[in-house]
Amino acid sequence: PRLANQIAAGEVVERPASVVKELLENSLDAGATQLDIDIEQGGMRRIKIRDNGSGIDKDDLPLALSRHATSKITTLDDLEAVTTLGFRGEALASISSVSRLLLTSQSEMATEAWRVEAEGKDMGTVVRPASHPQGTTIEVRDLFFNTPARRKFLRTEKTEFNHLEEVVKRLALSRYDVGFRLGHNGKQIYDLRPVSDQLHAEQRLATLLGSKFIENALTVDVEAAGLRLWGWIGLPTYSRSQADLQYFFVNGRVVRDKLVAHAVRQAYRDVLYNGRHPTFVLYLELDPGTVDVNVHPTKHEVRFRDGRLVHDFLFSRIHKVLADVRP
Ligand code: ADP
Ligand code: MG
Repeated sequence: PRLANQIAAGEVVERPASVVKELLENSLDAGATQLDIDIEQGGMRRIKIRDNGSGIDKDDLPLALSRHATSKITTLDDLEAVTTLGFRGEALASISSVSRLLLTSQSEMATEAWRVEAEGKDMGTVVRPASHPQGTTIEVRDLFFNTPARRKFLRTEKTEFNHLEEVVKRLALSRYDVGFRLGHNGKQIYDLRPVSDQLHAEQRLATLLGSKFIENALTVDVEAAGLRLWGWIGLPTYSRSQADLQYFFVNGRVVRDKLVAHAVRQAYRDVLYNGRHPTFVLYLELDPGTVDVNVHPTKHEVRFRDGRLVHDFLFSRIHKVLADVRP
């Protein structure tokens, strides 16, 4: 089974940023409202994430690191099969198979904290007493220490940190009600408090995306035919040299979708597009039954039941917001 973990890890665990994404999603799943993320050397040396979520019971700690599915895959010949199965329920097993991992937790009902460790193939089954407030801390050290081929694909500390920061940014933009603190090499990058109003949401945006964006953005909040679109659209006069400020969330999950991109681009182009990149942080909310955002666990694709309806809604609303400010 550990071989299978390492194979699957190739899919889920590509670089420090993918570890951070999996760990933060677990913390949010556990209901955490505060996430403390400490990084060393772009995450290659150390990733430490502490949350105040529901925690993990003593007896469940070793299970959290074990693989719950597809343990029948034991040879590389089965690799093909693995890639078609999806990897949900395997993130911690995968990560622990290619790192030195410490998992410490105190669950809601418990009065004591417990810890398990795993180092590469040596599965952590020994549960030891530890000291920890309610919630969970996961520390991942020396990523890929036992898989030199994969380690070779890691880039510079700066590049890896940029990828990782982008993951944190996307989650911070999707959960204003959660606090995010990020530190790198002992230096604080930001400390985002949980927010519940527009003003503070815009402060978070300014911290994450720069105050220029928010100073040059129009707000949007419209609803029609069971669809709601809200967020911020950069004025067409506000230019960015790269298409790097484009965030679109569908029911709280960031997506990169052709249909969405097309609708936004068309609206810009139609009003006063002049070769600039549209900038936006937009949230589309719709009946979860009319959209599939889990097409692939690591890609950000989305499939709308009525793509035409969604496209026309996005195009017409964004077009109107932009046209209203046309000089
Ligand atoms: P999945 O999230 O798909 O279930 P993972 O390997 O990511 O699989 O996590 C395994 C299990 O460990 C989770 O289902 C959850 O029960 C537990 N777990 C992981 N991280 C946390 C956390 N931060 N807080 C509480 N429970 C956690
Ligand atoms: Mg998970």
